Amino acid sequence: MEMRLTHLINGEARSADAGAWLEVFEPATGQPYAHCPEGSASDVADAVEAARVAFPGWSALPAADRAAWIGRLADALEARVDDFAAAESRDVGKPLSLARNLDIPRAVANLRFFAAAATQFASESHGAPGVVSYTLRQPLGVVGVISPWNLPLYLFTWKFAPALAAGNCVVGKPSEVTPVTAWMLGELAREIGFPAGVFNIVLGRGHVVGQALVDHPRVKAISFTGSTAVGVRIAESCARSLKKTSLELGGKNATLVFADAPRARLLDTVLRSAFLNSGQICLCGSRLLVERAYYEEFRDALVARAQAMVVGDPADAATHLGPVVSKAHFDKVMACIELARQEGGRVLCGGVAVQPEGRCRDGWFIAPTVIEGLGPSCRTNTEEIFGPVVTLQAFDTDEEALALANATPYGLSASVWTSDLSRAHRLAENLDAGVVWVNTWMNRDLRTPFGGVKQSGLGREGGWEALRFFTDAKSVTIDLG
Ligand code: NAD
Repeated sequence: MEMRLTHLINGEARSADAGAWLEVFEPATGQPYAHCPEGSASDVADAVEAARVAFPGWSALPAADRAAWIGRLADALEARVDDFAAAESRDVGKPLSLARNLDIPRAVANLRFFAAAATQFASESHGAPGVVSYTLRQPLGVVGVISPWNLPLYLFTWKFAPALAAGNCVVGKPSEVTPVTAWMLGELAREIGFPAGVFNIVLGRGHVVGQALVDHPRVKAISFTGSTAVGVRIAESCARSLKKTSLELGGKNATLVFADAPRARLLDTVLRSAFLNSGQICLCGSRLLVERAYYEEFRDALVARAQAMVVGDPADAATHLGPVVSKAHFDKVMACIELARQEGGRVLCGGVAVQPEGRCRDGWFIAPTVIEGLGPSCRTNTEEIFGPVVTLQAFDTDEEALALANATPYGLSASVWTSDLSRAHRLAENLDAGVVWVNTWMNRDLRTPFGGVKQSGLGREGGWEALRFFTDAKSVTIDLG
């Protein structure tokens, strides 16, 4: 296990302080395979200082030049898509095909999208008799981005690309659970000669590196994606210095299936939304609400399809579900399944660990699990599990479906399956969610606002929203008299 990762600070690869290494595990085998530097507050201070020094030059570049740099990084990443996909698959345990078809192409797309956006961003002007007002959109300075383990490079690029595009310099802190592709991207940035200090990566633990970034007085904003508990803590810390925050947090998303749902892609998509990445996507639909007239037919078909899913080696092309990301997470998800049983839930399929043959026999695999018989207010139906576990509940009316969907503290996304257009619009308006899909799921246009309500977050990412977050608006008013 001799891969040793490094920070990227001021354009240089920096190793760990003596002995301060964290083990990185391969979820499919349960074995450590790399070492990640355990960064310190002083590494963060060095990265912030490098970013501070780089900021005047980077922010003064024409937007087209910043776009060109971000585009070069996208090109370099695209040229290595297979290496990055293999690394992401190994680090997270996700099927190689998923990393190859979703994670890494989306990371490239994020970079290209915000490179282009940098050249298109515009601000407003308001004319009035004898007076004109206009808005300047100015970069903030040094900003911090903190990302989770489930979609490592996808979400890391989603955060730092708009920050750079808007003219900021960045200190990034990827998850210590899955740090490999962020490190590889840092190496690519060095290879292409990305301007030193503009983009820094400090690896290490959340409560050390992440907290130091959040608390650093020169960091003007924190864009965070992760759990609600950590998000609340970051919001508290940032409140003391009135630091800008964007918080993308947990979810407990509802999938509403009406009896008139168009059948063509229904089961395939609901299955994907339930179990993609072993259910470890914030947008996964973990509560399936089904109109009673269609409940039994849908349930039986879903369970049959879930039972047919192949759980196994993520490197194997036939695999649908790899392991969950860590031993700690495996224990948490298994405890949630046990809790569901104690709460009176009937486990219709799954509910058990899986032990594949061969090299993956010590990995952290869980069978896709479908549970019924639980009401809306139990812990299983209100707390985030973030694993391959979904519940089924039946409803009779639109009002009941809406009440069930909204009966959690979260409000990230929802998907509605119906052929009734008026019903779709009515529900979209009334669901407590930042993102609503109708007859589809995780269909993302990068221009649309992305984020959650209630305990799922504060603020929006995507398109202009991200560029607005990473800039301050200054109003200038001129008397023309
Ligand atoms: P987490 O909150 O444990 O960690 C997220 C990041 O925050 C990691 O890089 C971690 O090191 C860092 N961190 C931890 N403590 C910190 C602190 N005190 N100060 C600063 N940084 C700190 O989340 P996770 O387990 O990595 O990810 C899973 C969670 O992320 C789930 O709740 C999931 O729903 C959520 N998520 C949300 C979205 C979204 O867009 N809303 C997307 C993906 C994941």
